[in-house]
Amino acid sequence: MTYIIGLTGGIGSGKSTITELFAELGVPWVDADIIAHEVVKKGSPSLAKIIEHFGKHILLDNGELNRAALRELIFTNEKEKNWLNDLLHPIIRQEITTQLAAQTAPYTLFVAPLLIENNLTTLCDRVLVVDVAPATQLARATRRDHNNIKQIQRIMDAQVSREARLKWATEVINNDANLVENLLQLKQKVLELHRFYLQQAELKRVG
Ligand code: ATP
Repeated sequence: MTYIIGLTGGIGSGKSTITELFAELGVPWVDADIIAHEVVKKGSPSLAKIIEHFGKHILLDNGELNRAALRELIFTNEKEKNWLNDLLHPIIRQEITTQLAAQTAPYTLFVAPLLIENNLTTLCDRVLVVDVAPATQLARATRRDHNNIKQIQRIMDAQVSREARLKWATEVINNDANLVENLLQLKQKVLELHRFYLQQAELKRVG
């Protein structure tokens, strides 16, 4: 059984960037966002239920789910948000569990932006938080998504606060420093964590 490291952080904090550095060391990962997309793909039973509930206008012309429209709809409607979460969360959780159980590496990263918000910490042995100042998040996410600051701020406000997230952390990796000057230090930190996680995984295995 693989040891599970939940990896989380706010929008634009650098989860993908850090995951890549672990991947370079051969560490596999399971991505909650990818699974959340897969369970509502065209032809899926969940998408059929969503169409039944919201109507066909929730689809794009190509028959795929219009995620932006759905996101907008549930952002302002608690009841619909709960309906959707009640439908999808158990299915997503089941798929995450299945994919994690299939891993054979000593440990696996479980990358989930909403690890804390969606109670997914219960699936994890440890929680690694990618931590940056809110101003860094705003700047990087705005640049990456070609989005306006207001929209990114709105997403940040809907996520758990930096302080609340850090309370769940068993390890923290700070990603404020610029990658260009700081890549070596960041790689070193990831290597330290890697060694620590291998050790912890082994302790659990023999324990
Ligand atoms: P999201 O949850 O929004 O998908 P994320 O947490 O996975 O985001 P990344 O996509 O890794 O974050 O990083 C956000 C943006 O910031 C990317 O464009 C990435 O290249 C850039 N970035 C990440 N870390 C650094 C860094 N240390 N220095 C400079 N740029 C960075």
